[in-house]
Amino acid sequence: MNANDPEELIACHECDALYLKRALPRRTSAKCPRCGSLLYRSISSNLDKICAMTLAALVTFVIAQGFPIVELDANGLTSQTTLIGAIVALWNEQMEIMAVLVFCSTILFPLCELLALLYVLLPMRSGYVPPGFNALLRGIQFVRPWGMIEVFMLGVLVTLVKMVSIARVIPEAALFAFGALTLMFAVVVSFDPRALWDLAETLRPRGEPGRAGSQKQIPADARQKS
Ligand SMILES: [Zn+2]
Repeated sequence: MNANDPEELIACHECDALYLKRALPRRTSAKCPRCGSLLYRSISSNLDKICAMTLAALVTFVIAQGFPIVELDANGLTSQTTLIGAIVALWNEQMEIMAVLVFCSTILFPLCELLALLYVLLPMRSGYVPPGFNALLRGIQFVRPWGMIEVFMLGVLVTLVKMVSIARVIPEAALFAFGALTLMFAVVVSFDPRALWDLAETLRPRGEPGRAGSQKQIPADARQKS
């Protein structure tokens, strides 16, 4: 532990007091002894929650993509479509750029983020760092701003409200799935991937000897049950 190493230090967000950052046991959090505000939580308990939420989001994502979003009934003529169907329709209407944008922001990037998170989180829960960890974490931080499921959801809702006057709108399974997915993504996105860098430092890469003596102790004054 080197007090001069900025990597080992953490500042209180409330009172700017500087502390040495130590690893915490499961389900504990470190609080500032001076002002009592939360400094950081142990990663392991957070990891379980975010892992479960990512898995649930992936299942919901499959439902949202596989089922129709709405069914429109206008004078007996009914029509329904999935998101993929809407993208294909855009493409066939010579709106290729729009189709690619919708595909990337609502399918490709969110799916990449969920799969990459699971690929990183599941092995780390088991205690090892998966191959390609650094590149994937950078990838997650790169695609994150481009996943726009919440914007898509807002667009669908505005369109539906406008269409109610010209056709009977029947919500289908994917509409509810997209609603749930928007909330789940809000939780997943609230997870800061930078916390995984800290965890990776304490875990040994698979196949390499453990870093003996790297286990850090928790100071009594900064330890508190959450
Ligand atoms: Zn403080």
